[in-house]
Amino acid sequence: MRFVHDTLPQRVCFGSGEAAAYLATEIASLEATRVMVIASKREMDIADGITTDLPVVLRHDDVVMHVPLEVASRARQAASDADIDAIVSVGGGSTTGLAKAVAMTTGLPILAVPTTYAGSEATAVWGLTEGNRKTTGIDPQVLPKVVVYDASLTLSLPVPMSVASGLNALAHCVDAMWGPNADPINAAFAAEGIRALAEGLPRVVADPSDLEGREHALYAAFLSAVAFASAGSGLHHKICHVLGGAYNLPHAQTHATVLPYVLAFNGPAAPKAERRIAAAFGTNRAIDGLQDLRRELRAPHALRDYGFTEDAIPAAADAILPAVPPSNPRPVTAADLRRLLRAAWAGDDPKPGF
Ligand code: NAD
Repeated sequence: MRFVHDTLPQRVCFGSGEAAAYLATEIASLEATRVMVIASKREMDIADGITTDLPVVLRHDDVVMHVPLEVASRARQAASDADIDAIVSVGGGSTTGLAKAVAMTTGLPILAVPTTYAGSEATAVWGLTEGNRKTTGIDPQVLPKVVVYDASLTLSLPVPMSVASGLNALAHCVDAMWGPNADPINAAFAAEGIRALAEGLPRVVADPSDLEGREHALYAAFLSAVAFASAGSGLHHKICHVLGGAYNLPHAQTHATVLPYVLAFNGPAAPKAERRIAAAFGTNRAIDGLQDLRRELRAPHALRDYGFTEDAIPAAADAILPAVPPSNPRPVTAADLRRLLRAAWAGDDPKPGF
C-alpha cells in the first residue's frame, strides 16, 4: 500500500434536536458577534428555529441552485454592508454553495447546518454559474469550519427529494472508489457510507418521520462527501457536471439517474471496487445491490423525465469526453458515452460492462 491522503480540518457536531445548542456554543467559541444567516425561503423557518440565541444581524434568503454569479454578488454585498463576522448556512447544497461564495471573497468562517444529503458542507469545492456555464474550483477558505448535523431538521425533506439526495450521496461513495485520487481511506469511508445509506434510506421511504433512518442517511452523507472530496471527481461526476451545467437538469435527480449506468459501465473493469461496493450492499454483484435499493426507494430512473432530450446526447457526449479522468478503470470513447447517455435518457436496464 502506498498513498498520500489529505484530511480536511473541520469540526463535526452530530445530534438530533441539538442544532441550536451546538450553534450557540460554536459561535461563542469563534467570538462572533455579527452573524449572517443564509437559508432559502423554504429553509428559513428551519433556520429561524435554531438561530434565536445567536447574534444575527442579517437573514439572507436569496438562494438559487448552482449559485449564479449575480446571486453570489448580491450576497457578498449584503455581507459587506452588514459588516458580518460569521456565516451560518441552513439548507441544502444550494444554500451551502452560496455561503461558500461569500466565504471565498471574505475569508469569513462558515458554520453549515445541512438539511439534505448533498454533502457540500464537507468539501472545499465551490461552484459558480455564469450563463449556462458552471465553474468549480477548490479553495480551503470555503470549507465550513463547523458542520452541525441535526437529523430532526431533515424530517420535512419530502421523500422523493430525500431519495434523490440520498442517491446523490451514494454516487459520491461509488465514484470515490475510482476517482483520480482514490485511496484506501476514501474507500473505507465510501463503503461505510454505502452501508449506512442502504440502511437509512429504505427506512425514510417507509416512514419519513423515522428519525433513526434519517440519522443513518445524514451520517452517510458526511462520509460520502469526505470520500468524494479526497478522491476527486470520477467519470460519474464529470457526466453529471456537464448535464447539470449545460442542460440545467436538477442536481440530485441527475446523479440518482446516471449512477447505475456508470456502475454498470465501470464495475467489471474495477473488480476490487466492484467487490467492495457489493460487500457494502451485502449482495454478490454491486449493480444488483444498487438496483435492489433503487427499486425499494422508487428512485428516479430516466433523464427524459427531467427535461433532457434525446437529440442532445451527441453534443453532451462530446462535452463530457475531454473531462473523463485518465484514471478511469476503462478507456472511454464518445461512442461509449453516447450509449451510456442513451440508456440513462430512456431508463433502460443497465447491463454490466455495456
Ligand atoms: P438544494 O439545496 O437546491 O435543495 C433542494 C430543495 O430542497 C430546495 O427547494 C430546498 O429549499 C429544499 N430543502 C432543503 N432542505 C429541506 C428540508 N429539510 N425540508 C424541506 N425542504 C428542503 O439541492 P441539493 O441537492 O441539496 O444541492 C444541490 C446543489 O449543491 C447543486 O448546486 C450542487 O452543485 C451543489 N453541491 C455542491 C457540492 C460541493 O462539494 N461543492 C457537493 C454536492 C452538491
